[in-house]
Amino acid sequence: MTTHRIAQLPGDGVGKEVVAEARKAVDALGLAIEWTHLPWGSDYYLEHGTMMADDWVETLRAQDAVLMGSCGWPTVPDHVTVWGMTLKIRQTFDLWANVRPARLLPGIPTKLAGRTPADIDMIFVRENTEGEYAGVGGRVHQGHPSEIGIETSVFTRAGIDRVVRYAFGLAQQRKRVLTSATKSNASRFGYVLWDEVVEDVGADFPDVRIDRVLVDALAARMVTNPGSLDVVVASNLFGDILTDIAAAIQGGMGMSASANLAPGSSAPPFFESVHGSAPDIAGKGIANPIATIWSAVLMLEHLGEPAAAARLMAAIEAVCLHGPRTGDVGGTAGTSEVGDAVVARLRASA
Ligand code: ATP
Repeated sequence: MTTHRIAQLPGDGVGKEVVAEARKAVDALGLAIEWTHLPWGSDYYLEHGTMMADDWVETLRAQDAVLMGSCGWPTVPDHVTVWGMTLKIRQTFDLWANVRPARLLPGIPTKLAGRTPADIDMIFVRENTEGEYAGVGGRVHQGHPSEIGIETSVFTRAGIDRVVRYAFGLAQQRKRVLTSATKSNASRFGYVLWDEVVEDVGADFPDVRIDRVLVDALAARMVTNPGSLDVVVASNLFGDILTDIAAAIQGGMGMSASANLAPGSSAPPFFESVHGSAPDIAGKGIANPIATIWSAVLMLEHLGEPAAAARLMAAIEAVCLHGPRTGDVGGTAGTSEVGDAVVARLRASA
């Protein structure tokens, strides 16, 4: 049995509560896992003046995967938490693919009237390191009426190629349609390059149909005809926005899992729920742990444990269908009650 080295990085707020449940579920699978608990985040910052320990790069590099909670807390400025942890990790390890399944599970209410799980089953692949969030730009004449803010998008052929290629690979394993979102009618450079690279890479995947859609039309299509979408690839900004719509229609933030990957590199992949630290409900024991447990499913798939991943996903599906469920998805249960139910389903299926 291969031993997997996994770091547990709960971070802030509800992150601590939901990661504990995900760990409980993964432990119930009986795999050989060497866990490392990393107490980093806003509390760590308030005590040490940094979000992560000084040796964070070596510590994380030694892991096969990182199961992460969320980072951010009202007592620490957002730019400190985000740039001190999430973005720092993503950029240092060049985790260029953000993969988010958006599937409505039976038993979970959706905001889309009349839609069923058969209509909502998509995977988003968001470019994670460049594009509109490249961080290139500046401000001049600050405070004057003539002040200027310039934000430049950076699209590279290599950056687009790798993320699009990954998405084509996923599409090939699913329905063999890849939807690519751009805005290449109004923006004439970066998105036009994106479209060209999609065509070029598509030549290596002749069995996958390319569905090129303008992002505004795609946003509408997600709510009017979600069943027409399967694998969607998008730039950093567009992926950010589209996946929030996706989260909403699959049952909300408490249901939305994600992976941050750099396939083909030795960088440790990160698995986390899409939601933040949710200070409004933190400490109350009512956060939905499913998004994080589902992220652990993605982690197990990535670690080459497909059978364990499938067992855990089946347990999640059973709990979503039969309960208990937390308040955000129509139930009354607490966080650990849901986690316990997932563990009970796993034990029953052992
Ligand atoms: P951040 O800025 O870090 O993203 P935030 O509080 O602005 O934090 P989220 O943490 O994503 O944004 O939460 C948005 C809302 O969704 C919260 O107010 C919370 O009530 C709800 N929410 C988030 N995560 C969960 C969860 N796991 N279970 C239930 N509700 C959640």
